[in-house]
Amino acid sequence: MNKGYGDRVRTRRNRPRVIGTFNERILALQAAQRVLETMKKSHEFADINLDSLSTTIVGFLREPAPQLLGFCSYSKKGNQNGRSSNPGERTWRILVNRKLVHARDGELEATIYHEYLHAVLGHDENHGPNFQALESLWPLSTQEVEK
Ligand SMILES: [Zn+2]
Repeated sequence: MNKGYGDRVRTRRNRPRVIGTFNERILALQAAQRVLETMKKSHEFADINLDSLSTTIVGFLREPAPQLLGFCSYSKKGNQNGRSSNPGERTWRILVNRKLVHARDGELEATIYHEYLHAVLGHDENHGPNFQALESLWPLSTQEVEK
């Protein structure tokens, strides 16, 4: 569920692009928005421009994609300067497995969070210690302090 470029090239043949229906795309985008709003309410990303991710493409993986849950690809432009100023510039798109839209078991949101973490932390971090620490926090605690 990451930038497995080798895998992607090897398995692309005979696997059509998947656009999804209006409903599937709406559900995926709504989930992405929920994840982003949750991240914005969390303290963990206070210094990150998460709004920049609202214009990042959210789409579906080619099928069949039995193993892969999601995929984050970085933009060439964002990578040129090494560290781009915000995750939205750094990231071209995230793709998720379409079956997650229909499962409605929370896996879609967890996968989108995983891919957004790749966008936030960048190519070099991959699944490193920072990534794992943040991923383990999902679902993020956003409880209000008011009583
Ligand atoms: Zn990953």
